[in-house]
Amino acid sequence: MSDTTAKHAVKSGALNVSLQGIAGSPGITIGKAYLVEQEDVDVVEKRFVDPESVPGEVRRFKEAVKKAQEQLQGVIEEVPEELRDHAYILHAHMMILKDRMIYDGTSGYIENENVNAEWALKMAVDDVKSIFKKMPDPYFRDRASDIGHVSKIILENLLGTGHSNISDIDKRVIIVAHDLSPAETTQIQLEKVKAFLTDLGGQTSHTGIIARSLEIPAVLGLGNATQLIKTDDLIIVDGSAGVVILDPDEETLTRYQERKDLFAEYQAMITRSSRLPAETTDGFHLRITANIGVLEEVVSVIDHGGDGIGLYRTEFLYLNRSTPPSEQELFDNYRDVAEIMAPRMVTIRTLDIGGDKFASGLQLAEEMNPALGLRAIRFSLQSPEIFETQLRAILRAANLGNVRIMFPMISEVDEIVQARHMLKQAGESLEKAGIPFRADIEVGAMIEVPSAVIMADILAKEVDFFSIGTNDLIQYSLAIDRVNKHVAHLYQPLHPAVLRMVHRVVEAAREAGIRVHMCGEMAGDPVNLPVLLGMELDAVSMNPISIPVIKRMVRILSLKESKLFLEEALKQSTAADVVKLVQDTYGSSFPRAAFFPPNLT
Ligand code: PEP
Ligand code: MG
Repeated sequence: MSDTTAKHAVKSGALNVSLQGIAGSPGITIGKAYLVEQEDVDVVEKRFVDPESVPGEVRRFKEAVKKAQEQLQGVIEEVPEELRDHAYILHAHMMILKDRMIYDGTSGYIENENVNAEWALKMAVDDVKSIFKKMPDPYFRDRASDIGHVSKIILENLLGTGHSNISDIDKRVIIVAHDLSPAETTQIQLEKVKAFLTDLGGQTSHTGIIARSLEIPAVLGLGNATQLIKTDDLIIVDGSAGVVILDPDEETLTRYQERKDLFAEYQAMITRSSRLPAETTDGFHLRITANIGVLEEVVSVIDHGGDGIGLYRTEFLYLNRSTPPSEQELFDNYRDVAEIMAPRMVTIRTLDIGGDKFASGLQLAEEMNPALGLRAIRFSLQSPEIFETQLRAILRAANLGNVRIMFPMISEVDEIVQARHMLKQAGESLEKAGIPFRADIEVGAMIEVPSAVIMADILAKEVDFFSIGTNDLIQYSLAIDRVNKHVAHLYQPLHPAVLRMVHRVVEAAREAGIRVHMCGEMAGDPVNLPVLLGMELDAVSMNPISIPVIKRMVRILSLKESKLFLEEALKQSTAADVVKLVQDTYGSSFPRAAFFPPNLT
């Protein structure tokens, strides 16, 4: 009997059932399950109440909210040290408790439709969730789950039902839950957690974010794991592949134990080397920076060896509130990012809201084609007060770190001219008020619209750097809605049209003597690296967890060969031809070799 089987006592006639979910956090673990029992609060009954009972029903709702605030406050006060970085989520939940759409919405349903508080809450929450669920950006779409978590606390108070008691788990287990709210996650003693499995959730759910930052394997979005798994079942979790194996047989256990050991060794090697510069075999240094959406991700950027922040998406602070954030609030946030990252560079992108990205506090009209509508710089230029507040906050933060500013979705020169003019005015107003700021901040344009590609030579004269946003550039140039699953297969970063556009932008930047970076998802996928390296971009920016892998790939490639490779790639007719060229040139296991030791590919 092998070590593994001795430890895990496999029963005969094992079924080896494999479940496929979403790879939430990498790593392999083998262990016993702990099923978190949770009330199903989604099933709420509708009752009509007499008109004279309506005020009492509203009061009952308000008391349930007040109690939820007290409960959440209690959780915040007890947040364990290792989760301090994530406490902002709980503060955000506090704000959701007071969100007008939920608070007034529920009272409104009770008063206007004479229904019970539980049903009214469900209706108000469904309204808000449906708005979030329509958002194309998965991060913001997943925020619908925050509304769900918060309303669950209120609902439990209304129904008088208890909470799952997960704070007293006393052995190392694999947590299996329908969904885990941040409040629940923070109550678990994390040293007891070998892995997280949830029925709901995706890459950007909080369980995923927390699991990744604590390097605990997680598989999310499993659908019905809680129906198939019982406490004490032996299971294998492969968080890298998003696979869970129930009732494994002896051979599977041995195989996964070996994979687990190899993976651990490999991860240790990758992490150790993440501090090394991304330098090719012939001495070219590619700067590898990170994309972040919230301040708290800065820790992950540093841990993963990021050379700076190539894209700070600033929308988060504008969400879930009835008025835009104040200059001071924005400044505090940008200053923290700048100071923690200093002397590394931080690129703050001005608000990219509107169209596909929603903010409850901002009045945005319904649009037929939101991706082509009033978004990003177009929205900012039409909302001078909101824009000026943000520009002032960025200029002030630039005084305290290595901060650059970048404008999203530039589609014509005039937008840059206007944005720069407003930036100058913001500086003048700070000057007048005697508030310290940095006037000579570097200004960049995101190149993510085909017209900007065509006009890159002219645009280059107006800015200090370009950053190519391939997520939108691919969407607009190939006419592929970036979140429409029916056309997802057509969304191809290696499409020769995309390569030619990126190449053109790089050439225009070189010609004008400005730097050129890329911050779309394309930059974080190793399969694209040979062409991007061949373009000799100055920096690529990506999800922090992709950094060590991309750095490792850069170190095994050469600039000279990549340039020759790019020449060939630009001659191809289809994306499939380019992928084949990558495989023929770099080996058939490329780029999986970047993620796994050779015998795991
Ligand atoms: C992009 O479009 O490539 C980009 C980085 O911006 P976002 O994904 O925020 O639109
Ligand atoms: Mg974009």
